[in-house]
Amino acid sequence: MNLLVTDLDNTLVGDHPATLALNQQLQSKRSQFCLVYATESSYASTCELIAQNQLLAPDYLITGIGSEIYRNGIIDLDWAEYLSQNWDKIALASLTQQFSQLKPQSSNQQNPWKLSFSLESVTETASIFHALQQKLAESGLAAQIILSSNGEVDILPQTSTKGNALTYLQKRLKTPADATLVCGDARHDISMFQQDVRGVIVANAQSELLEWYREFGGKNHYLASSGCAWGILEGIEYFWGL
Ligand SMILES: [Mg+2]
Repeated sequence: MNLLVTDLDNTLVGDHPATLALNQQLQSKRSQFCLVYATESSYASTCELIAQNQLLAPDYLITGIGSEIYRNGIIDLDWAEYLSQNWDKIALASLTQQFSQLKPQSSNQQNPWKLSFSLESVTETASIFHALQQKLAESGLAAQIILSSNGEVDILPQTSTKGNALTYLQKRLKTPADATLVCGDARHDISMFQQDVRGVIVANAQSELLEWYREFGGKNHYLASSGCAWGILEGIEYFWGL
């Protein structure tokens, strides 16, 4: 069985006619695919997005930058246990309280493996990020800090990436590399392209991913000539001839 793992925003979703065309193509071969959506968004936001855009029901959801995996609405406890190693959310939360500029995002953006904040002033972003990195290093706590261009800060287990999460599923499903296709457009998707998989970069990809592709892209990576879900369709044809 083929494993298709796609990012949502600006990859599967973003050009509605393209999303519909891909849906139709996948629907006609639905039993041949294990379908996974991998996104930065929370589980609740992802469910809303799926409903709003009439996306196909996925077999698995990877949400919150790899911090949670769901199947039929049930969280994957093995993955949760894996992420929980060396993860001290309470200590990290107390460390972040030293930074008054960090405002916690709403509770539905948080989960046991993700602390999410907004910054009031985007101009301070870089200095706060560095100060936070330094405090983290001093504390000896294991975590990664992810800074978004819109001034959001996420603190996650070091093992929480979309790439690690998809490889966990790939191993569990015993899917070979050439039957695993990942699709994405942005920085968070780079970790997926770094796995032993085939990868499609949609034409509307952000500069950070395009730069990564220029430097590290190989025969297992395909830069589509069209954007969003049209690019996914191209990639499916290129790698799988479907
Ligand atoms: Mg995206």
